[in-house]
Parts: sequence; C-alpha cells; structure tokens
Amino acid sequence: MKREGILFVISAPSGAGKTTLCKEVIDIFPNLRHSVSYTTRPARPGEVHGRDYYFVPIAEFKRMVAAEEFAEWAEVHGNYYGTALKTLEEYRKCGIDVILDIDCQGAHQLKRRYHGAVYLFVLPPSFQELRRRLDCRSSDAPEVIERRIEAAADEIKESRWYDYIIVNDVFSKAVEELKSVLIAEQCKTHRVLEGVSQLFEI
Ligand code: GDP
Ligand code: ADP
Ligand code: 5GP
Repeated sequence: MKREGILFVISAPSGAGKTTLCKEVIDIFPNLRHSVSYTTRPARPGEVHGRDYYFVPIAEFKRMVAAEEFAEWAEVHGNYYGTALKTLEEYRKCGIDVILDIDCQGAHQLKRRYHGAVYLFVLPPSFQELRRRLDCRSSDAPEVIERRIEAAADEIKESRWYDYIIVNDVFSKAVEELKSVLIAEQCKTHRVLEGVSQLFEI
C-alpha cells in the first residue's frame, strides 16, 4: 500500500528565495509537485497561467471563496491568494508529496486543518540582502517592493512556530538543507510503516 502524500508548507518574506528553492527541489524529487495557487495579482513577465499560478479575476476568486473551494486563502500585499482543496486532495490520494509556497496566514489556516503537514520558513541572510534581491529581480514596481519590505519584519516574527528554518544565504547550502528536510520527513517511521507494514508484517 502506498503512503499518503506529505504536505510541505513553505513561507518566507517576499524575495527570500522560496520560489527559486522550490523549483530546484521539484526538479530533483520525482514524487514532489508544486501546488499551483490561485491569485488575483497580475502575471509577471514570464509567468505562465496554470504553471506558476492560476490568474483569476477578483469576482471568480470570491465565487470560489463562497463555494468553499479553498483549503486556505488570504490577502497578501494587496492581492488575494488561495490553495484549492481539489489540488491538495488529488495529490494526497495518489501519494504525491506537495510543496505549498504560501504566506503565514494561509499556513496558520492549514495548521488547523491538516495535522501531518510539515512547516518550513525561509529567511534571507539580512534585510539589506532582501532589498537587494527584490531590486535585482526587477519583477515588481518600486512601491510594490516597498510594501513587501515593510511586511517582511512582521512575517519574519512568524518563523517561531514553523518546524524548520532555512537561512538562504549561499544558495547551494540552502538547497542541501531543504533536501535534507524533505528526505528526513519522507523517512519518518510512521510514514514508511504505512507503506511497508504488510510487506514485512510489522
Ligand atoms: P513572492 O513573494 O515573490 O513569492 O510573490 P508571490 O506574489 O508569488 O506571492 C505573494 C505571497 O502570497 C507570498 O507570501 C506567497 O507565499 C503567498 N501565496 C502564494 N500562493 C498562496 C496561496 O495559495 N495561499 C496563500 N495563503 N498564500 C499564497
Ligand atoms: P521569493 O519567491 O521568496 O519571493 P525568489 O525565489 O523570487 O524569492 O528570489 C528572489 C530573488 O533572489 C531572485 O532574483 C533569485 O534569483 C534571487 N536569489 C534567491 N536565492 C538567492 C541566494 N541564495 N543568493 C542570491 N540571490 C538569490
Ligand atoms: P508573489 O506575488 O510574489 O508571487 O507572492 C507573494 C506572496 O504570496 C508569497 O509570500 C507567496 O508565498 C504567497 N502566496 C502565493 N500563493 C499563495 C496561496 O495560495 N495562499 C497564500 N496564503 N499565500 C500565497
């Protein structure tokens, strides 16, 4: 019998590098997928509907909220973001592990809903470096960057209740740390037993 998929919930202040880190490990772990969120924010250059986000109008987002189609949703930096229940349930049933790149409010909501999920927080090495990365990414307008930097201090305080913290200074080291957490969680006794107990009569 195959075990249930694991939910890995990752939060970080904007620009800490979680999108880049998630992409890296998804290419390495064949049983790991990214949960594609719904958002009302406009697509950035290069972002693809259905791959990076489902970009929807506000009216459609509100319809989904009213129809209780979200496992969690939140307003972040002036836009709405949400994870569809359907996305999570489909992966979980098939035994596929999922990474959710979501903000702290959404992570809180999931913590109440899913007991077995694993919570990771990505920190930048400093505020100065956070600002540099947001400027270098040049995907957001200057006022959007300011709003994200202002939000960062409060978001960082939330890191206290997460299961793991990864400081994304040297990228290759942060990737190794993230990989280690994923592998250790996959090897947790209760998860492995689910798959092998019948085989060995454990
Ligand atoms: P990023 O900061 O460059 O990753 O910018 P994004 O616009 O991609 O994400 C904005 C914020 O929304 C981040 O804090 C994400 O973690 C959060 N976010 C993305 N998808 C979801 C989601 O499905 N649910 C929730 N609650 N937050 C999300
Ligand atoms: P987030 O998804 O957390 O907002 P991104 O993954 O988009 O952040 O990263 C923000 C910017 O910082 C990107 O331009 C990315 O290439 C860069 N970046 C990510 N990690 C590092 C790192 N360890 N060192 C230097 N630059 C990084
Ligand atoms: P960005 O607009 O830069 O892609 O994302 C901004 C923030 O929104 C990030 O912190 C990201 O993690 C968060 N975010 C993305 N998708 C979701 C989601 O589905 N739910 C929640 N709660 N936050 C999300």
